[in-house]
Amino acid sequence: MRHRSSRENMMKHQLIARGIADENVLKAFLKVPRHEFVPKEIRHLAYNDSPLSIGEEQTISQPYIVALMMQILELKESDKVLEIGTGSGYQTALLAEIVKEVYTVERISSLIQRAEDLLNNLGYKNVHYKFGDGTLGWKDINSKLNSFDKIIVTAAAPDIPVSLTSQLAMNGKLIIPTGNRAFQQLVVITKTEDGYIHTNEGGCTFVPLIGDEGWQE
Ligand code: SAM
Repeated sequence: MRHRSSRENMMKHQLIARGIADENVLKAFLKVPRHEFVPKEIRHLAYNDSPLSIGEEQTISQPYIVALMMQILELKESDKVLEIGTGSGYQTALLAEIVKEVYTVERISSLIQRAEDLLNNLGYKNVHYKFGDGTLGWKDINSKLNSFDKIIVTAAAPDIPVSLTSQLAMNGKLIIPTGNRAFQQLVVITKTEDGYIHTNEGGCTFVPLIGDEGWQE
C-alpha cells in the first residue's frame, strides 16, 4: 500500500507534471514495483526523482528519463523491442508490461543474472535475456530475430552503432543517448523507405555504452 502511494506520487509529480501522457507508460509505472529493483539498503529511496546506484558502478535511471524514452518510442502492444543495457531490469519490466516481446542485452553477467531471476519471480514471460556486447545488437545466426520494431539503448554511445540501425524493422525507431562521456543528446532514428531520419530530443547524462561499437572501456 505504502509503495503503491509512492508510485502514484511519482507518476503525478515526476511524470505527468513534466509532460508524460502516454497511458500505457503511466499504467506500467503504476504497476512495476521499482523498490524491488534497487539494493535493499536504499529501498527507501526507490521512488525518488533521481538515478540510484545498483552496484558494479551502474545505475537505475531516473524515472522521468525512462518514461520519456518510452513515450518517444510510441510503443505498441504488437512491438518486438530490443533493449541494450538491462541494468536492474526495471525498464525491462516496464517494457514487458506494454509490448509483445522484449529482448534485453547486458554486458555485466551479475546484473543480467539478477535481473533475470527477479523478472522471473515477478512473472514476466515475454522477456529474452542475453549476456554480451549489445552494441552489436541481437545477432543470432540460427534465428530470424535480427529485426526489431523499437530499439532502446540505456547507456551513452560516442556514435550511433551501425549494427543497431541495421537491426531496425521498416518504420522502426531507435533511441540512444549520443555524445561525449559527460553529456549527451537523446537521438531518435526512424527507418523509412527513403532512409533514416534523425531527430534530437534534448540533453541527458548516462553511464557509458562499452563495446565494439561504443566506448573502449
Ligand atoms: N534501464 C536500466 C534499469 O532500469 O536499471 C538502467 C541501465 S544502466 C543506466 C546502463 C546499463 O548498460 C548498465 O547496466 C551497463 O552495464 C549496460 N551496458 C553498457 N554497455 C553495454 C553494452 N555494450 N552492452 C550491453 N549493456 C551495456
